[in-house]
Amino acid sequence: MMRAMQVSEPGSDFELVEKAIPTPGPNQALIKVQACGICHSDQFTKEGAMPGIEYPRVPGHEVIGTVEELGDDVSLWKKGQRVGVGWHGGHCFECEPCRRGDFINCDNGQVTGIHFDGGYAEYLLAPSEAIAGVPDDLSSEEAAPLLCAGITTFNALRNSNLRPGDMVAVQGIGGLGHLALQYANKFGCEVVAISRGTDKKELAKELGAHHFIDAKAQDTVEELQKLGGAKVILCTAPNSDAMSSVVDGLGRDGKMMVVGASMDPIEVSPMQLIMGRKSVEGWPSGDATGSEDTLNFSALQDITPKIETYPLEKANEAYDRMINNEARFRVVLTMD
Ligand SMILES: [Zn+2]
Ligand SMILES: [Zn+2]
Repeated sequence: MMRAMQVSEPGSDFELVEKAIPTPGPNQALIKVQACGICHSDQFTKEGAMPGIEYPRVPGHEVIGTVEELGDDVSLWKKGQRVGVGWHGGHCFECEPCRRGDFINCDNGQVTGIHFDGGYAEYLLAPSEAIAGVPDDLSSEEAAPLLCAGITTFNALRNSNLRPGDMVAVQGIGGLGHLALQYANKFGCEVVAISRGTDKKELAKELGAHHFIDAKAQDTVEELQKLGGAKVILCTAPNSDAMSSVVDGLGRDGKMMVVGASMDPIEVSPMQLIMGRKSVEGWPSGDATGSEDTLNFSALQDITPKIETYPLEKANEAYDRMINNEARFRVVLTMD
């Protein structure tokens, strides 16, 4: 038997249950979970905010563990190997996006902790193609958040046509933003942290920010334009009004990269985009190879998330820390 913290119905608390340890079928691995990060998107499972979720469901898509058992046909992974599973929980290989290698956009794509049980548990089953290898240099607790908060910001930044020296502004210094500052700095960019209040100023600078804008006391657009206008503004806080308010901080050919998952509209006028050839783009997380790139780059460059750890059975308390924006900066469940 194994312990899991599951959501029995939309809106309910996480509930500690004992379940049978599942057996891997074809193309699956059974992973013994060591650590699982808590992500803002876990609210899709907790609150039922995504259509088609079957309950009860175990959330968690920032999973690190070791391979315990393999389906007969799985040769890519070895028993005992340390691996990770992120948001992207597998793809079909046959739809049009898959045939073009665009697995994250698979028409039949699965999401860990949404379409199948995730990492708020001692074990989970994952499809072989959704699994990433984990470098030895990272602890499991520190590696876990890199599988969503990490890959999302790493991929958004490395796919935004940045060049060394370009100015990157990171809006929202939380679970995603505090990693984005580190990546942007290691990419050789001029890094601006945007946050409300000054309580994160010192830490933002430690993490690689060259400038800090207090969005409560300063005019963010004016400050960004004083610095020359941003090539990229990475919006990590799921707050559409905040995103709308910084569009004019972009410089020529500037791009707003949106990763903070909000349902509310962003307000931007055509003229704001036309003048200076600006754009607003969204970025999803990435697939298992993207996770490996993120983990390897992070290990190489000494990039780690700042985390608070909680034992599995304290998932409710841990989730509240995250959802109330109190965590500094990522909450990780551990299986002791
Ligand atoms: Zn996530
Ligand atoms: Zn597909």
